[in-house]
Amino acid sequence: MRMHPALRQVDWDREGAAAVELLRDLIRFDTTNPPGDEAACAAFCADRLRDAGLEPEILTSAPGRDNVVARMTGGVEPPLLLTAHLDVVPAEADRWTHPPFAAEIADGHVWGRGAIDMKNMAAMSLAVVGMLARCGAPLRRDVLFAGVADEEDGCAHGSAWLVERHPDKVRAGYALGEVGGFTINVGGRAVYPVQIAEKGVCWIRARASGSTGHGSVPRADNAVVRLSEFLARVGRTRLPVHLSPAVERFVRELAATQPRPARDVLPLVLSPRLSGMVTGRLIRDASVGRTLAALVRNTAAPTILRAGSRVNVIPGSAEAELDGRIAVGSSEAELMAELRALAGPHVELEVVGSRSPHEAPAETPLYATIAEVVGEHHPGAVAIPSVIPGFTDAHYWSQLGTICYGFSPVRLEPGGVAFADLFHADDERIPVAGFTAGLRMLADAVFRFCVAD
Ligand SMILES: [Zn+2]
Repeated sequence: MRMHPALRQVDWDREGAAAVELLRDLIRFDTTNPPGDEAACAAFCADRLRDAGLEPEILTSAPGRDNVVARMTGGVEPPLLLTAHLDVVPAEADRWTHPPFAAEIADGHVWGRGAIDMKNMAAMSLAVVGMLARCGAPLRRDVLFAGVADEEDGCAHGSAWLVERHPDKVRAGYALGEVGGFTINVGGRAVYPVQIAEKGVCWIRARASGSTGHGSVPRADNAVVRLSEFLARVGRTRLPVHLSPAVERFVRELAATQPRPARDVLPLVLSPRLSGMVTGRLIRDASVGRTLAALVRNTAAPTILRAGSRVNVIPGSAEAELDGRIAVGSSEAELMAELRALAGPHVELEVVGSRSPHEAPAETPLYATIAEVVGEHHPGAVAIPSVIPGFTDAHYWSQLGTICYGFSPVRLEPGGVAFADLFHADDERIPVAGFTAGLRMLADAVFRFCVAD
């Protein structure tokens, strides 16, 4: 394998083993969010950065909610930010084979909450920064590290706060974070999605009104009935297709990796007329079909209902909350117009919170470096620029003009665990060999992009 010259002498067995221990240490900090409580984990990262000779800073957004940032200075090219959130989603320990915060190694995997989302990236980034510092080669750009709080609960104490309060400490030309860089083994091909775009969010309150009365005499203008009719229409309706360069490129490049007939069928996901039929019926894997259907349009999933307090009283109003998501290439205004058309005169819609979709170009030297590294480290594999239906810290980093890619590499083998089965799931774990292969990929990409010739 062709590696950056400064990495050819590295003892990868030793570096890999040290990074695995670093990952296990990070998992053992219970940073379940809420409440997050990332301070001890952030302090641990700061110690490791200090060991590497850097001068990390702890930035506290609220009691216990610490962020850790550090910078290695280099030349004048746009800086690279390596970033990971330190919080994790909750884990129900009795549903796990191995305890979620013990970081046990069993069956070739490190088990624990955060193993793949995303303390693996925190550990790899700290390891790569350490390698950069030890090799002592001049850098052509600054390399930044940010270990942040609160991604899993909306970013308010982490990236959103840093971008607002300490923009100069995290502003970069490029960032590497989640969600991407894992192997998807599909149609006999190893594909590495590299996230370049993510959908926006639009949380909505729907309120129906009607006449009150006694439950013994039903009436057509019952608010509960009106609200239910609206929600049923939302559930039955596929909103129109909205395309963007990122989504089109993702679908076309994914299709190109596949054998026939998938190669011919997948691009039809982009057809306004045929998209629904393709994602609903022709794509055999239902979860892939659902995800692609969500990527090409605005969506709204009803999640909360409130109405009435007594069984014999017809209430004058009924409320629901909907988790709306804005397609890349669409807007809050378009989503709301699409939903208002379904609401009718008796249901009012109100936006209670929203954030716009974001999209980064894939035509950059960093993307080219990643694609090159993927192909060289994993012969036959290919990187494709991908879009996710959820949101990440990239939403906030990109507000500073940063081009953000989801690239936290981990090599997953066909027949082994699949990323989609691990992300936020019970028994979250990472293959040790896949993690150390990911470390080599990330190190090579960062060295190629940042070390001066
Ligand atoms: Zn995550």
